[in-house]
Amino acid sequence: MPSQRADHAFLPRGWAADHTVPVAAGGSDAVAWRLTGLPNLHSHAFQRAMAGLAERQSHPEDSFWTWRELMYRFAGRITPEALHAIASQLYVEMLEAGYTSVCEFHYLHHQPDGRPYDDAAEMSNALIAAARDTGLRLTLLPVLYMSGGFDGRPLSERQRRFGHTLEAYQALLSALRARAGDTLAVGIALHSLRAVPEGPMRELLDDVGDTPMPIHIHIAEQIGEVQDCLALRGARPVEWLLDHAPVDARWTLVHATHLEPSEVRGIVASGATVALCPTTEANLGDGLFPLRDYLQAGGHWGIGSDSHVSVSPVEELRWLEYGQRLVTRRRNIAVSATQSSTGELLYAQALQGGLRACGQPGAADDFIVLDAQAPALAGATRDDLLDRWVFAGNRSLVQETHVAGQRLVSGGRHRDRDAVAAGYVRAMRTLLAS
Ligand code: ZN
Repeated sequence: MPSQRADHAFLPRGWAADHTVPVAAGGSDAVAWRLTGLPNLHSHAFQRAMAGLAERQSHPEDSFWTWRELMYRFAGRITPEALHAIASQLYVEMLEAGYTSVCEFHYLHHQPDGRPYDDAAEMSNALIAAARDTGLRLTLLPVLYMSGGFDGRPLSERQRRFGHTLEAYQALLSALRARAGDTLAVGIALHSLRAVPEGPMRELLDDVGDTPMPIHIHIAEQIGEVQDCLALRGARPVEWLLDHAPVDARWTLVHATHLEPSEVRGIVASGATVALCPTTEANLGDGLFPLRDYLQAGGHWGIGSDSHVSVSPVEELRWLEYGQRLVTRRRNIAVSATQSSTGELLYAQALQGGLRACGQPGAADDFIVLDAQAPALAGATRDDLLDRWVFAGNRSLVQETHVAGQRLVSGGRHRDRDAVAAGYVRAMRTLLAS
């Protein structure tokens, strides 16, 4: 098998020199800058198709909750064929931007009227096929979604595509887990505390027991959710979860935006990872994660592109830092006693946390190559490479992307970019006309 030598390779443990790895035939055999690729910890693929379509004011008090109504209307029109076309386009964009794996938090399970498809895994199959066709490593997290609020109210008409009984969910989960393989992992997702009542949550988690698998949950994204949880369960969401579920290193808490200091300490002590989605959290007006306190406490974290208003790991990392700078009126927040480079600390921690949370043992072997000829990297050294990419570079610096021994992106282009884009355009025309 041919190999590729890198002058400088950024690995999960840090920089290495003269690093050689086996690669697929037909590409460069020596490069300057190679980086282990970042996992994308949170994605709802279908939302890629509505990116940019929710930026007109519909109500003077527009918020997450008014956006959610629009998202529900959009979700109601997505067919399995459309989902395959949208996810394929999204996954090509992720690979070209430097993500090498994705955790799909998948709740769009059923037909628009709420009845399961003949194959209950039809929509999951569309995502699996899109990942297989484009080469992106997939952690599929079928979502358990049972109620429309903390009070246990039934799902609304627009939420019917998402819902399962616990038995039906467990059947879907075991069918999907039987298909896991080299580049497909399957774990579970609890939509949120408001959508999963305590009894079924306990039953599912008892059933899972110690089985090693990723367990993801949306939590504490919105103030309204914190208030409802306090009113109906007598505790804040993260506080309640840590008290009522066996949260450990398998768990990923998505957003965890609104935290008290004791909750920050509790997450860190549990060993869970937090999935931060800065561009989506900004787009939806969610609030700001207490990054400084969390880093100081030694917490694990990674990034996700969530609603896909941006598909760029460097933009997520940049905005994670910029949000903190804007409120603290200071610079270089994400640093430590041993790491003064903000870009390198952000990339290294997002990589380490991402690898813990994605449940993909092979993901540490996936990598990207940056364009050493790009003006943005002129005269780059190991000390400044990641600062340059995160703060002053963009996806155009990604020259090659390799996943599981396949070269998927060369010269900055995915091997099937044009065909996938044509399929996406057809699917969007149909969607927008329906
Ligand atoms: Zn989400």
